[in-house]
Amino acid sequence: MPSAQAHYDFDTLIIGAGTAGSRLARRLSDAGLRRIAVVEAGGTRTPVQAKVPAWYPWCFGSAIDWCYATIHQPELLGRRIGWPRGKIVGGSGAINALIDIQSGKQDWQRWGWDWANQLTSCDDPLSPENPTAIHPWSDHFLTACEQSGLQSHQPLTQVDRNSCGRFLLARRNGQRIHAGQQLSDLDQVTLITHNEVLELILSNDRVIGLRITSDCGSSPETITARRVILCAGTVGTPLLLQKSGIGDPELLQDAQINCQVNSPDVGQNLLDHLVVPIVYQARSADGLPRIHGPGARSLFRVDGSGSMTSNIAEATAFKSLSADRTADYQIYFTPTHYWKYPRRDDGRSFLSLNITDLHPRSRGAIQLARDTSGSLQAVIDPKYLSHREDIARLSAALSWAQSIANQPALAEIIADPYTIRSTSSEDHEAMFRKFSQSIYHPVGTCAMVSPLGGYEAVVDSHFKFKGLENLWIADASVLPDLPSCNPNRTILLLADRLAQLLIEC
Ligand SMILES: Cc1cc2nc3c(=O)[nH]c(=O)nc-3n(C[C@H](O)[C@H](O)[C@H](O)COP(=O)(O)OP(=O)(O)OC[C@H]3O[C@@H](n4cnc5c(N)ncnc54)[C@H](O)[C@@H]3O)c2cc1C
Repeated sequence: MPSAQAHYDFDTLIIGAGTAGSRLARRLSDAGLRRIAVVEAGGTRTPVQAKVPAWYPWCFGSAIDWCYATIHQPELLGRRIGWPRGKIVGGSGAINALIDIQSGKQDWQRWGWDWANQLTSCDDPLSPENPTAIHPWSDHFLTACEQSGLQSHQPLTQVDRNSCGRFLLARRNGQRIHAGQQLSDLDQVTLITHNEVLELILSNDRVIGLRITSDCGSSPETITARRVILCAGTVGTPLLLQKSGIGDPELLQDAQINCQVNSPDVGQNLLDHLVVPIVYQARSADGLPRIHGPGARSLFRVDGSGSMTSNIAEATAFKSLSADRTADYQIYFTPTHYWKYPRRDDGRSFLSLNITDLHPRSRGAIQLARDTSGSLQAVIDPKYLSHREDIARLSAALSWAQSIANQPALAEIIADPYTIRSTSSEDHEAMFRKFSQSIYHPVGTCAMVSPLGGYEAVVDSHFKFKGLENLWIADASVLPDLPSCNPNRTILLLADRLAQLLIEC
């Protein structure tokens, strides 16, 4: 790690060692590029809860979490919604739910990603594991999905219309794997950890340096590079741009920041997946939390097997309403009480069909603002359920989930519809507002140009920032729209694409 007040110079400087930044560094290094540096605010030390799949919720609120939260959401009864984001080498991929699924062809067509098909067949150093054993209730769920007419794929590698299956997991021998682990031992990559980038230093349409500060309290240092690639994620990337005077001039002025580059949609176009847990009480008491006993721990220690290797949301189903979208709704099945896990339940056991509208209409923004003491704060406002259509879409997703719960394979293990007894649409709407949570898939705050339109693109189709000569962005913030599934694999894919472009040029 550099010492205080030093000056370092590289060819390629990547900011953020998360899913995208780590993958990109690895791909560039494998292709023989030299003098690469990755600057990361977190460290490499991985606590046990980030290794054991079933313990990932214990990462939330810990030292490896940025611990963001939205501002009060008027349409969610004024609640603030927690937004964990990984602050560690590996980023959010080091604390996520391990689900590995490829987005569908319709997504790529809508975004103009005609290159995606060809890239997905490339060698993958992070290939996921096929779950060998899952909780028996997850199998009941999958049978019920088939009974309702969905097509089963075992496992489900890519989102498909009206389908169901077990998830592939980012696991090796039962333990989590993530892109950050692939940075170790790369000769040509200098990994600078525990250093947060505070500002990009600009001159004549170029980034000429970075101001960074370290956890150890050393003075800010400067680093220069021929090209700079921002991979700080959907929250970190727009915040860093705005701190550097890049964004909407009026909003920057409100935050008392001098505008250096007018890029009005930095921080705008924010989209996220909400999840609504539909919890049922089970007939038996054998839910997942109750089988995490000492026996499960020793199985995990001995050969990486047993219930501790579960990522909790073990099985899924997709439903599509239109030809141009791969899927509109997704169900995550958990053999737990969704929002009480990881706490143990009171002798009763629960299972949950957790519904997500994959393409909500509500859009929000992330913006820096001064608080009353004059410090800069991140204002995260997804404007959840602010678009009226989103309630109707959730209602349709609920009816679909209930039709699966009523199939014989689930009906035989369900004792009681715990959260939804009423059939009134008003009661359902009230439940959406009371219980929705983020499922942690925010995207879009530095959106790439796409055929979708309706926003001012921040980067071009080659990930190049529009307005500076040597700045690229490659992370979840460039996705112009939400993928029709969990996004991590799509973010690996876009990192692979930028690597391909940089290697070719
Ligand atoms: C709890 C949780 C569960 C999830 N579950 C799944 C799942 O099961 N499957 C799935 O597909 N997706 C899942 N996701 C989403 C997925 O993990 C993320 O979309 C993906 O990791 C985002 O990748 P990224 O590279 O854009 O950002 P990140 O992986 O978040 O990387 C950003 C990196 O930049 C660093 N950084 C930020 N600001 C700075 C700065 N100023 N200076 C230096 N470093 C900085 C951060 O510390 C971090 O390491 C989940 C996310 C969370 C949080």
